[in-house]
Amino acid sequence: MDYSKTVNLLQTNFPMKADLPTREPAMLAEWEKSRLTEKIERKGKGRPFFLLHDGPPYANGDIHMGHALNKILKDFVVKYKTLAGFYSPYKPGWDCHGLPIEHALFKQLGKNKHQVTRIELREKAAGYALSFVDKQRADFKRLGVLGDWENPYLTLSKEYEASIVETFFDLREKGYVYRGLKPGYWCAYDETALAEAEVEYADKKSDSVYVRFQLKPESVASLALHCHPSPSAQNDMAFYVLIWTTTPWTLPANTGLAFHPQEYYVVLEAGGAGYIVAEKLKDNISKILEKKWGGPVITSGVRFQGKEALGLKASNPLHGRESRVVNATYVTMEDGTGIVHIAPGHGMEDFSVGQAYGLETVSPVDERGMFDKTVGVEELIGKHVLKDANKEVMRLLGDNLLSHFEFTHSYPHCWRCKNPIIFRATEQWFLRVDDHFRKQLLAQIDSVKWEPAYGVHRIKGMVETRPDWCLSRQRHWGAPIAVLFCKKCREPLSDKKFNARVAELIRKQGGSAWYEKPVEELLEGLPGRCAKCQGTEFEKELDILDVWFDSGVSWRAVVEENWPDPKPQTVMYLEGSDQHRGWFQTSLIPSVALRGKAPYNVALTHGFVVDGKGHKMSKSMGNVIAPQEIIEKYGADILRLWVAMSDYREDVRLSQDIVKHMVDVYRRFRNTFRFLLQNTADFSWANDRVPPEKMEEIDRWILVHFEEVKSKVIQGYEDYQFHAVLSELNRFAAVTLSGFYLDAVKDVLYCEALSSPRRRSAQTAFHQLTRGLAVCLAPLLSFTSEESFLELRKTSDGNLAESVFLDEFSALPSLPFDQALNDKWLKILEIRGLVNDILDKQRKAGVLKSSQEASVRINPEKLNQDQRELVGKIEDWPFILQMSEVHINGKIESEEAVVIDATANRKCERCWRHRPDVGSNSEHPALCARCLKVILKLA
Ligand SMILES: [Zn+2]
Ligand SMILES: [Zn+2]
Ligand SMILES: [Zn+2]
Repeated sequence: MDYSKTVNLLQTNFPMKADLPTREPAMLAEWEKSRLTEKIERKGKGRPFFLLHDGPPYANGDIHMGHALNKILKDFVVKYKTLAGFYSPYKPGWDCHGLPIEHALFKQLGKNKHQVTRIELREKAAGYALSFVDKQRADFKRLGVLGDWENPYLTLSKEYEASIVETFFDLREKGYVYRGLKPGYWCAYDETALAEAEVEYADKKSDSVYVRFQLKPESVASLALHCHPSPSAQNDMAFYVLIWTTTPWTLPANTGLAFHPQEYYVVLEAGGAGYIVAEKLKDNISKILEKKWGGPVITSGVRFQGKEALGLKASNPLHGRESRVVNATYVTMEDGTGIVHIAPGHGMEDFSVGQAYGLETVSPVDERGMFDKTVGVEELIGKHVLKDANKEVMRLLGDNLLSHFEFTHSYPHCWRCKNPIIFRATEQWFLRVDDHFRKQLLAQIDSVKWEPAYGVHRIKGMVETRPDWCLSRQRHWGAPIAVLFCKKCREPLSDKKFNARVAELIRKQGGSAWYEKPVEELLEGLPGRCAKCQGTEFEKELDILDVWFDSGVSWRAVVEENWPDPKPQTVMYLEGSDQHRGWFQTSLIPSVALRGKAPYNVALTHGFVVDGKGHKMSKSMGNVIAPQEIIEKYGADILRLWVAMSDYREDVRLSQDIVKHMVDVYRRFRNTFRFLLQNTADFSWANDRVPPEKMEEIDRWILVHFEEVKSKVIQGYEDYQFHAVLSELNRFAAVTLSGFYLDAVKDVLYCEALSSPRRRSAQTAFHQLTRGLAVCLAPLLSFTSEESFLELRKTSDGNLAESVFLDEFSALPSLPFDQALNDKWLKILEIRGLVNDILDKQRKAGVLKSSQEASVRINPEKLNQDQRELVGKIEDWPFILQMSEVHINGKIESEEAVVIDATANRKCERCWRHRPDVGSNSEHPALCARCLKVILKLA
């Protein structure tokens, strides 16, 4: 007789081969057909409300690994919260406006800004953005991310654009918004602003000048207080701050003098006056002074750090305007005087420094590059800054010009006309971040839970030093700055009724309506009078809002609009760590201004995806791995497993080798599920379930132990430590289940009669473990957990939900935790470890092949006290150890606690165990007593 055919080898529809690239899309289709997301949403209504609010990716290009990491982490959180009993809807969104889309579109159309009308461009840009929304949506769904994909939020929608415009109006009404000057690249020949990409560098001949600014008397006095020792100078001696510049024409716009805060400065005495210069550069400057005034140049005893000079005041030698000393760390000690002339209207760095110290932005240059009357010096009006202005400035400086020579250097030029460009400040809209508001922002940052915790320092550091927010852009594709200017005096119109009307118009017709409707129609029936000059003619602002303002108001356009009541108790933002500078800040600012609070309670950040060696992924390096590539080859669950195993707080490494390792880890989980499912295929939860008190002790223990695992898993999720969740589950599956429990009960499942109470007991444990593991893993390995769950459902007699995502942690059958039982079995595992060590040695020595051949003697005298007390109380050692015979006695003539020899017992041909009772029946001489009973019952 072939006894192997009487062993319980059951079939399951959960195959060994995962075939995820085929199976996952079928499951996605099933989820869509069964409207799973809606069911989850319905189930969650009325529960505690946890909202993960999606930061919108930019609707341009294909998704890359960074997108995948971000979306998968979000999905972990949302799915966990759902399974933990929260209402946690996920509404994805896209950022649809902005320059990158304009650029890509022009490239695609082969046209420039002047060859399409604003309205035509806006229509095309919307179509372009929507096509990428569709593309990215398909890829995000394929990752297994569940959410309201049919109704995403789009910053180009009419409703969203209306919210943007309303938020701008509210901020303006509350006094946060103002018009101010800001420098940018300007071509005086083409009379246009240039983007950074439209500038190229070429050699240019420039004037290099050393110029002195006289310190005001009160500053000389205050300088004396700081100096060590105090200046030896006479009361009437003049002190000057010496600067060097290669653009003399920017001197009329000077409002500041920047010292490096940490560097040392000294006073050189020459020609009866004192000159403040950097100590490191004094030798070179002494030569200049000597040439100008004749020798000798004396270094006075005065020496101070740049930070001590902060706040000193000097006079502009051209027109006497005040110039204030500020600090900037970008000041170098390589050339010049170590003091940088600051003209906030004519340079980006100058402007930032000016913003930080409240310096005035002066821009006396018109669009053609000529000084206008605000230059403050009659002789300079009408002079062209790239032609005759420098010469005139130098003439006017007189003795305040200490040195001049010409030199050639690399200078930005216009890419179209090839002429040198200038920096020129133009009027822009700003959101004011003053000290009072800054304090409010910082207080709100403190009220947020930052994950990881050090994120709080990053964002606070940035908010502490951030300048006002420049809101306007001179582009086409964005939400309009819907403001009218008085044609006569340029005063912007302030009228709440007008604002409400415009917002309503945009809500109905979209942002383009602002550009389409004539001013008269927009003003119809309203007073329409300039508050400043009583003028009645107006023109539209054509600039658009910064695209960051769009996404920065999503707390209003999405969260408040969609969930007015009940409001979420917790709102979480989860983005890459670069968003401390971006979305976290741009959302915080309008929300604190208008609502007095941060728009989120929890802000979690993750690092970036790098290659296996820690390098940035780039096309030129050839080290890019696309998410689509892994999904097509291995499946989305492999990608999800990689995210789960990574410590996302740092940069996350990915290489083909890492992917292969993930495939191995995945296989272990899959095999665990498969073994559990295969051995419960004939089980019925309703009819065969064994109550806990009647279960075999080992089965009861594994469930008790799983309670401990489950609580660690839940804690891991609560702390957003997904790698801790995964490693706990991995350890449980690989070590506790595969390494012991499943092995120990294998014989019971394969060889006991199908309906034997012992087998049903193990199956009951298997059923609960499968469900528990599926729920624990569902946020991470979504597809495989669902596949296991649906297979388990077949044996559950209607007692399981129709998807693992409709199950929940609190619904899992659980045993009360039994510390004594758990401790006992952990000790059993210790003893088993001792025995297995000896077994391995004997195997290697060739004494025996399998554990079933082993005859074990354990000497309790050599065990520790805990083990000794336990070892005699267990009868089932052969079963636990899967060995033929186990003898517990003190009469071993060996130093070892455990001795193993080959057993003399014969092998049962059915169960392969070596038992003393094999051959007790003459008709079945190859069977053990247990197998004999099973066979006879079968027969
Ligand atoms: Zn040009
Ligand atoms: Zn006016
Ligand atoms: Zn047997």
